[in-house]
Order: sequence, then C-alpha cells, then structure tokens
Amino acid sequence: MDTAAPDSLINIRHRITAAQRRFGAPPQVVELVAVSKTFPVEAIEPFLAAGQRVFGENRVQEAQAKWPELRARYSDVELHLIGPLQTNKARDAVELFDVIQTVDRDKLAGVLAVEMARLGRRLPCFVQVNIGMETQKAGIPPAEAVAFVERCRTVHQLEIAGLMCIPPDGVPPGPYFAHLAELAKAANASQLSMGMSGDFETAIAMGATYVRVGSALFGGRPAIP
Ligand SMILES: *Cc1c(COP(=O)(O)O)cnc(C)c1O
Repeated sequence: MDTAAPDSLINIRHRITAAQRRFGAPPQVVELVAVSKTFPVEAIEPFLAAGQRVFGENRVQEAQAKWPELRARYSDVELHLIGPLQTNKARDAVELFDVIQTVDRDKLAGVLAVEMARLGRRLPCFVQVNIGMETQKAGIPPAEAVAFVERCRTVHQLEIAGLMCIPPDGVPPGPYFAHLAELAKAANASQLSMGMSGDFETAIAMGATYVRVGSALFGGRPAIP
C-alpha cells in the first residue's frame, strides 16, 4: 500500500487486523469489501491508488456508470454486487461483477446460472439470508437457507462460496452473526460476508471472512429514499 492511502483505509485495515488477532486463533483471512455505493469515481480513485482492490456496489446501473473506466486503469479490481438483483438485470450483473453476494431466491439462481453459462463467466456467489426475518429485508429465511444452498449447487450448478446477511438495526448483532456462521457450517460454505461500518469487529469475532465497510471509509451518504 503506498503513502497516499486515505487515513480511513489505514484505520479500518488496522482495526480489522486487531480484531483478527483478538478473536481468531489462528486468525481467519478477512477481506475488506470497500462499499463505494453513492460515491463518484473521484472519491474511489484514492482507494485504488492505495492498493484497495475489492469493492462493493448495490445497484447494477450505478456500477455500470462508474466501474468500466476504473477497471480500464485497475484491471485486477474485484467487484461484488451486494444489493438486491432483479432477474432482468442478471445479464448486466454477470457481465460487470466478479462476485454476486445476493442470491436469495430460486428464480434468480436459475437466471444467473443461464447468464453465466451464456457469458462463460462462472462467478462465485453468496446466498443472502434474512437472518432477522424482517419483512423489509431481502434474503432467504434462515430455516430454508441450507436446503437452498444445496439446490443452488445441484440444480443450478452455481458456485456458492458462502452466506451473507444484514442483521436487524438497533439490537446487538452478535447472535445473528453467530446464527449465520452455524448455517454456513451446516451448508458446507466456508465464506461469511457479514459486518458493516458499525459492527465489523463483532462480525470478525463471529467468523466473518468478508466485511462490507462503506461510510467508515468514504464518509456519510445522503439518506437513500
Ligand atoms: C451500504 C451497505 C453496506 C455498508 O454500510 P456502512 O454502514 O456504510 O458500512 C454494507 N452492506 C450492504 C449490503 C450495504 O447495502
């Protein structure tokens, strides 16, 4: 990482390493997904210049507008889709992204499989679990998660690397992260995408291998309607 690294990136990387040391024995590998949604190319560029390569975006259209020019300069970027995906955007998503973190229903799994075969791009995927069973959140219900992972693998031939969740707001996230870790173990999925700016250290304590950090790196975002 060069000397131009933004302070926030240095700070978050230190906190991740400290959390790994504190909780992991031996420490698991924790990948930082820098969530750049709502931020323009100019705000992202210093993070790329500092060596950050894994980024998350939650909207296909916004990512299409920003990432082709950045990729032209940084070809080893790894872009994760972390927002809900409509089936009619699946082709665009498979073209642009490297990892799909939000597979949450059978129809989407099927369409993704078809588009991956068509484009010759077999992308690692995560199954998103609605770990707090909240009506406003996407994700497969926890009770169905293990069977759904199995179905994605056997019926759709998707590569399911792990599970992803967004726990409920305003309550301690630890038990939800622990539940996701249990489900991943039962599903024989090694990767766990959990933890955001406010709770990534707790997520690391519970076994996260990908933390998705936005505002703690890039600053506050305007409220999303
Ligand atoms: C926006 C977002 C994040 C990052 O949230 P911060 O609190 O800004 O770190 C992580 N995961 C998902 C799915 C998001 O939509």
